[in-house]
Amino acid sequence: MSNPDFPPPPRVLIVDDDYTARLLEREALEQSGFIVDEARDGGTALDAVQHQPPDLMLLDVDMPGIDGFEVCRQIRRRWAACDIPIIMVTGMDDLASINLAYEVGANDFMAKPINWPILGHRARYVLRAAESVRTQKDLEARQAAIVRAIPDMLFTLRGDGTILDAKAGAGRRDAIQPRLFIGRRVPDVLPEELATEFADNLHRAIQDGMLQALVFTLPADGQDRHYEARLARSSQDQAVAVVRDITREKQNEEKIRRLAYYDPLTGMPNRQHFVERLEQELQRTARERRKLALLFLDLDGFKRINDTLGHGTGDLVLREVALRLKEKLRVSDIVSRPGAEDPPPPLHLARLGGDEFVIALPSLDDARAAIQIAQRVRSALARPFQVEDAEVSIGASIGIAMYPEDGTDAATLLKHADTAMYHAKERGRNNWQMYSQALTDQAVERLKLENDIRKGLERGEFVLHYQPIVDTTDSRITGVEALLRWRHPERGLLEPSAFILAAEESGLIVPLGRWVLEAACAQAGAWQRAGIAPARIAVNLSGRQLRMPDFSRGVMDLVTRHGLDPGRLVLELTEGLVMDGDPALAAELHWLGAAGVHFALDDFGIGYSSIAHLKRLPIGSLKIDRSFVHGLFDNPNDAGITTAILAMARHLGLEVVAEGVETAAERDFLREAGCRTMQGFLFAPPLPAAEMEALLRDALREPA
Ligand code: C2E
Ligand code: MG
Ligand code: MG
Repeated sequence: MSNPDFPPPPRVLIVDDDYTARLLEREALEQSGFIVDEARDGGTALDAVQHQPPDLMLLDVDMPGIDGFEVCRQIRRRWAACDIPIIMVTGMDDLASINLAYEVGANDFMAKPINWPILGHRARYVLRAAESVRTQKDLEARQAAIVRAIPDMLFTLRGDGTILDAKAGAGRRDAIQPRLFIGRRVPDVLPEELATEFADNLHRAIQDGMLQALVFTLPADGQDRHYEARLARSSQDQAVAVVRDITREKQNEEKIRRLAYYDPLTGMPNRQHFVERLEQELQRTARERRKLALLFLDLDGFKRINDTLGHGTGDLVLREVALRLKEKLRVSDIVSRPGAEDPPPPLHLARLGGDEFVIALPSLDDARAAIQIAQRVRSALARPFQVEDAEVSIGASIGIAMYPEDGTDAATLLKHADTAMYHAKERGRNNWQMYSQALTDQAVERLKLENDIRKGLERGEFVLHYQPIVDTTDSRITGVEALLRWRHPERGLLEPSAFILAAEESGLIVPLGRWVLEAACAQAGAWQRAGIAPARIAVNLSGRQLRMPDFSRGVMDLVTRHGLDPGRLVLELTEGLVMDGDPALAAELHWLGAAGVHFALDDFGIGYSSIAHLKRLPIGSLKIDRSFVHGLFDNPNDAGITTAILAMARHLGLEVVAEGVETAAERDFLREAGCRTMQGFLFAPPLPAAEMEALLRDALREPA
């Protein structure tokens, strides 16, 4: 074996029929370190080459028999110029023979007489040139082999994004056909956003010479395919992109993820998956300053099924339980937020293991939704389960922990929901229990209140009282405000503070408010026909009512049906509504306003109403909140604000009603400040309809 550090000396074959020429050539070449073989004529030379190909040939043109040109031609049939380089030695330096020498495949030529001192150098030079061509060819062949062998697609790109060359991956039929890309530009073959990202990477690869990699997804044949592209600079203004289809890998990853994240029996998320989701939801809920409910479910009597009917049956039951839970617990029909714009919060359901399931409800305002879910779970499992030919009944004990009250991290909440679940079991199974007793009580109470309101509406327990609004210059009753009361069967007559919030939050305010409007219109219509109607009747509105479709039309229907002059109706709005800025809402109000209905802004001063907002809506009057009236003499601020409100209202041409006037001193102060219309206990409290009616009749009898 030859040592690469000391390669063997090159062999040269001298072919010449002239003995002296051969001798002199040998002499010159041996001095330059060549090993020299000789041949006297063309035939011998061809035999020698056949026998042992030399590293270089010095070939005389003029020989008897086969001449040098023919010898060269024959050698080139088998060997390339870089494999056996040939220097032709011509007797004449005419152009024709030089041309012919190159045509038949000579690497170089020399004319006789030979310049002996440079022969060795010339020979070495030709040898080196041939060697470098050979190396280049090897390199290219190797590269071509690599390109043929790798399964990736290969693209050559110019810095401006033009695709100069493209090759398909070896042995693959990719969804992409690279050769169709040749000559096009990246933005023409990739979607816009991806093209930009790709161009950035290309730019960086060429600028910095650093390998760039990006992963992307493209739709193909109605399926998403995933690719990984690596970009490497190949010259000043070019880069090579190796693009690999990694769809298979991604699919495998997904399979592994499913195995790691889902319970194989029920297809539900498993514990790890659930805990990760829960952590995320806790962060979100914290940001929103809302609440999260965690329900921990344990099946009652499952162990017995497993023990008596076997695990196979147990699995069937678990699967059926999972199925029913998934079906029954679709969040949209549970956590309804009538009138609210934000989408319903998500619901996360998982199997922790054994017969334990968990449910997380993020973005809640209170615990009610959790209790509704608990009740749903019970009804989902109420139907007996059919196993083989037997029917078995299964219940669930449910523990509920609330964020942030019962814990702020997933582990604590899970632990406390579990504890609550044990309390539920102790209490006789198939029921639910909250972690904190106070919350349990509160939730139960709230739920009962909502139920009672619903029943109260059905049973006609609600009534309206009426409070006069008085013009203090002549003590005339210019209007009345309808105020809601509830004749509760157990708790007696209730004021709105006892139930209006629950009605708002549950959405019950919508049917309740509809009833109020109807009753007020009916009453006002009756008074109108009796000829004792006050100039105006005011009704309080909740924002939710206004956001119901066709609200304005409904109001006009009522007014018409009860024969009430729409100019007598005042709708009292709250500041939140006015600030809302919803153009659809404004349009509704303007429509009603055009029909003659008045609008008053209730409880003015405690919110943040800006004059700009006021002007967008057809509001005709302000009601100064009773807290200001109440503070007139104790709080200099209140007096200042009240005076300012009055001045502003005068400026804008708005009427003002002062609410909650209880003393003559308050009345006098307000009159001094320019307010003449007032409402309050000083004149009359809210009165049942009959008493109000008597007052109205009296007023007619003895005009002020
Ligand atoms: P509001 O619209 O500001 O009604 C005036 C409240 O002030 C009434 O309370 C009335 O009884 C009380 N009030 C009147 N004069 C005086 C006084 O001199 N001193 C004091 N301290 N209070 C006085 P009420 O009837 O308890 O109603 C409370 C709130 O409930 C109402 O405030 C209104 O916002 C709401 N509300 C009442 N009825 C309805 C209704 O039918 N629908 C809606 N959505 N809300 C209603
Ligand atoms: Mg009011
Ligand atoms: Mg008010």
